[in-house]
Amino acid sequence: WLNLDNKVIIVTGGASGIGKAIVDELIAQQAHVILADLQNNTDFSQHHQVTFIKTNVSNKHDIDQLITTVLDKFGHIDAIVNNAGINLPRLLVDSKTPQSQYELSEADFDRLVNINQKGAFLLTQAAARNMVANQHGVIINISSESGLEGSEGQSAYAATKAAINSFTRSWAKELGKFNVRVVGVAPGILETTGLRTPAYEDALAYTRNKTVDQLRADYGKSAIPIGRDGKLSEVADLVAFLISDRASYITGVTYNISGGKSRG
Ligand code: NAD
Repeated sequence: WLNLDNKVIIVTGGASGIGKAIVDELIAQQAHVILADLQNNTDFSQHHQVTFIKTNVSNKHDIDQLITTVLDKFGHIDAIVNNAGINLPRLLVDSKTPQSQYELSEADFDRLVNINQKGAFLLTQAAARNMVANQHGVIINISSESGLEGSEGQSAYAATKAAINSFTRSWAKELGKFNVRVVGVAPGILETTGLRTPAYEDALAYTRNKTVDQLRADYGKSAIPIGRDGKLSEVADLVAFLISDRASYITGVTYNISGGKSRG
């Protein structure tokens, strides 16, 4: 139905979490996936439809190497998924312990922007050159509900995601005439991924003045109209649909996928 057979699709951060679920879905749909990540996933190391290319998305040299390797091997790029991202829960001002490790430092800010925002820019610009020349392509930006709603204790992370949503709208306006679509996907609370580590939960609980148990209760059923966390495969299904020609009139919009939790 989606007809993604032999499509050449780059997925950043495809070794873990949402990115891995997207890679799983795309290879089930017979696409060729280029997994661009700092690390590979052993599930894919022998897979003939997956090409791993070690890439730091915030490094222009790595991105240029990635695009050169993909074009040498496949000749063109059908789609990219800007998924690689990090989150550092930090307060703007820590009133309990001023300038603690939980206050947003300049280095934290630069890391978040470099990976989440600049990384998406670098890959999209490099890949879009090929897409514009071919008059064909799809760019998917993985955002977050926090980019739509803001988030206590995660202001810099949320700002990078709001920036991604703005990129989605502007790039769609610039690239539409070349038959290149740009679509955002903003997940809410999902099953555990590599981002939700104990260190992350400790930091977020601190920034919200809660225990980890209280924080987990916030993530619980009562906050989500559908009554459960989202599955990674549910995000991957949406991404696969948006890449496909079934979504040929969809561009410049960010889809909220949060079980009804946020407005979108
Ligand atoms: P994850 O930590 O499980 O996976 C992230 C992947 O990105 C890892 O494989 C990591 O190696 C890779 N990565 C990190 N920095 C990189 C870099 N500089 N260059 C290349 N690869 C890099 O995270 P996840 O939860 O699956 O998150 C994926 C995306 O989804 C992120 O953009 C995140 O902001 C977004 N998101 C996640 C959630 C959630 O609940 N997990 C909710 C909303 C949005």
